[in-house]
Amino acid sequence: MAKWIVGNWKMNGSRTHVAEFAAGLLAGFPAGARNGAVRVGVCPPAPYLPDLGSRLEGSPVLLGAQNVHPWAGGAYTGEVSAPMLADLGVKFCIAGHSERRHLFRETDAFIREKLAALLEAKLMAILCVGETLAQREAGEQTTVVQAQLTAALEGFSAAAADRLLVAYEPVWAIGTGKTAQPQQAQEMHAFVRQWLKSRLGDLGQTIPILYGGSVTPDNARALLQQPDINGALVGGASLKVESFLAIIQQAIN
Ligand code: PGA
Repeated sequence: MAKWIVGNWKMNGSRTHVAEFAAGLLAGFPAGARNGAVRVGVCPPAPYLPDLGSRLEGSPVLLGAQNVHPWAGGAYTGEVSAPMLADLGVKFCIAGHSERRHLFRETDAFIREKLAALLEAKLMAILCVGETLAQREAGEQTTVVQAQLTAALEGFSAAAADRLLVAYEPVWAIGTGKTAQPQQAQEMHAFVRQWLKSRLGDLGQTIPILYGGSVTPDNARALLQQPDINGALVGGASLKVESFLAIIQQAIN
């Protein structure tokens, strides 16, 4: 399957950054990544979605959102719904990122509602799962990831499988400069793949599983060469267009 490279800017950026990044990304987009050979997406903060979206229009780069509220609309001050994202030309959205789980106390049940809302709005969803350092040190990583997958996805209609991606992001590797070793990441990706296949049969084989956590141009290729690592969710290194382009380059066969 084609590799996915997705940038998550988190709460960073500005109008100037959007303009410079979009121009640099389009000018430097590798020919070998065109025509779906590598699927590339960028998730700016919500206020910059329309501007980045219009700059990327007609390009191979997909516009993504970092967050969504599960409800469709109404008196919910400050929230943004999935139909609104779709209306802006957003193609996919992250759900279950560890920063939202931990800093904003999002529960598995809430994340499941977000996924349902995204899929209902015909958006793609990237479900993030991953263990903390304490959980890994206690040998609980697969139990934790299995519980997150089950809570978010158990019982979901197989019809939604073609709009679903999973990202394995060990919390201890996010923003820390400590990447999981390729083999260590592969082990968890193989576990996630098995889980998906046990629930969805052959369809479980088609869902991209991205790795996230301190991905850089230097470590991307070794990670992306693992059999069950189908892409990367990139935080810090997606803010500079040069390093984001270099990671896209690493995903070209
Ligand atoms: P990082 O973030 O690449 O800065 O570690 C990854 C993520 O949070 O998705």
